[in-house]
Amino acid sequence: MDGKGKRWKNFRFETKAIHSGQIPHDNTGGVTQAIFPSSTYRVGFPGDESGYVYSRWSNPTRSALEEILADLENGSHAFAFASGLSALNAVLDLLKSGDHVVAVDDLYGGTRRLFERLMRNFGLDFSYVDGTDPANFEKAVKPNTKLFWFETPTNPLLKLVDIKAVSAIAKKHNILTAVDNTFATPYIQRPLELGADIVHHSVSKYLGGHCDVIGGALVVNNEELAERLRFNQYAVGGVLDPFQAWLVIRGLKTLHLRMERHSVNAMKVVEYLETVDLVDKIYFPGIDGKAIPNGMTMPGGMLSFTIKADFETVKKFAMATQVFILAESLGGVESLINHPASMTHASIPKDVREANGITDGLVRLSVGVEHHDDLVSDLTNAFAAIKAVPVSR
Ligand SMILES: *Cc1c(COP(=O)(O)O)cnc(C)c1O
Repeated sequence: MDGKGKRWKNFRFETKAIHSGQIPHDNTGGVTQAIFPSSTYRVGFPGDESGYVYSRWSNPTRSALEEILADLENGSHAFAFASGLSALNAVLDLLKSGDHVVAVDDLYGGTRRLFERLMRNFGLDFSYVDGTDPANFEKAVKPNTKLFWFETPTNPLLKLVDIKAVSAIAKKHNILTAVDNTFATPYIQRPLELGADIVHHSVSKYLGGHCDVIGGALVVNNEELAERLRFNQYAVGGVLDPFQAWLVIRGLKTLHLRMERHSVNAMKVVEYLETVDLVDKIYFPGIDGKAIPNGMTMPGGMLSFTIKADFETVKKFAMATQVFILAESLGGVESLINHPASMTHASIPKDVREANGITDGLVRLSVGVEHHDDLVSDLTNAFAAIKAVPVSR
């Protein structure tokens, strides 16, 4: 439930990350948010003002997390879901059969799968554009366009979308703008401040931050949208459970510390990659020390690069690291390495993949918060391992 106070709204990010939404436990004075597993709540108990009825509708631990997320994104309301995809699904539930969505072409694979393999069955239509030029969104607008959906930075090519410009185009045409802010996090970028209507998160990534939660969230700054999303939680029920919510609350307390270190480590890794002969392109928001446009305050921990070698050799490289764990997902304290051509994007025909820039040589890193010298040595060893192997054709 809302109304536990906007007591932390005007504090700085780091203070809100630690204090927002936290209600000291009345009976014990415990300084951290309690986990409330109760599914149902006694009606009319003495002094009952909580408004809690049934935990699909609202739950005290989930409410605490939702209040923190609203404060961190500078929104009025947040809603926590069972996964990033179920949060996305709740956004699509705002639409009707016959509506059209414009999305960026470089998208999380599961997002495109939900659009194409499920939502098309319900009469929604989707177009994909290169989001680096805001005009491409406008060109794709049809009379029935109701939603712009994009990530920035995008996955896995780290393209940047100008949130302000795209939101302005959307307003002109009465279209909702939803930004998947999973890669940047609110510490680095706050889309609602730039004109977006909805912020989306997979909290499974940086917000949870320890690769031990699956969850999602939406944040808005608009009473009517909030009412519709609250109804969605109640009517559809894809909500985050209290224990997972508590883990995210715990993770958020160090988000600012982690993002600072992720960014510094990623910059160190990029500096190193720039010296490696086998490396061709590097995709990174802060590349070449250029100012990061678009309201981002630092580059974050995600980067991709291409190795001048064939499919098998690049796969071998990705399996030769020790600190970087070969795994999907991202945003945890541990560094991860991903070879899209053999992992996340393996099911896409090679020519389609390559047309979208996902070449055999592409490697994606989620740079963790280990010591950066160990990360660089780890990559050095992996390059040495593939240099020793003759490139087979
Ligand atoms: C992981 C991810 C999702 C999906 O979130 P889940 O929590 O896995 O359902 C959506 N968007 C982006 C950018 C992601 O990285």
